[in-house]
Amino acid sequence: MPSYNLFTCSNCENHFRVLWPDPLPNHFHLRSKIKIVCPCGEMTELYAFLLDRILQAPDSTMPTVQVESVSSRDPSPEPYARAKWQQGIFLRRAARVKARLANLRIFIVEASVGIHQHSKKRLKRLSKLLICGLAAVGAMSRDG
Ligand SMILES: [Zn+2]
Repeated sequence: MPSYNLFTCSNCENHFRVLWPDPLPNHFHLRSKIKIVCPCGEMTELYAFLLDRILQAPDSTMPTVQVESVSSRDPSPEPYARAKWQQGIFLRRAARVKARLANLRIFIVEASVGIHQHSKKRLKRLSKLLICGLAAVGAMSRDG
């Protein structure tokens, strides 16, 4: 049955069809850690067994990523590797939302500072007018 492996990047969350080295190294095992570099620049190392296996012929329009390296079999893989991998994707998503909110906050602060600066400028102009006015009054009183 035709099938392919699907990789989801924890940074950009895009899906890719995994291109394996040909030939596959002899030391390859599902407990091998493979290294994948996403087009977004994110480098990921994960157990081969964490890749989703899609049981259908690959769609030719689907973007691909290459397996850069294959480690030898890990004799004692981390417990809960799958849960941790999924949690990692979730945490990265939460961090991105948080960063977006922080950016929004910076924008609001900058906008309010902008308004503040604007009124400062107006105050400066007003005080200049006031000084000119006082000077004129002073000159008038001297003349008078
Ligand atoms: Zn990515």
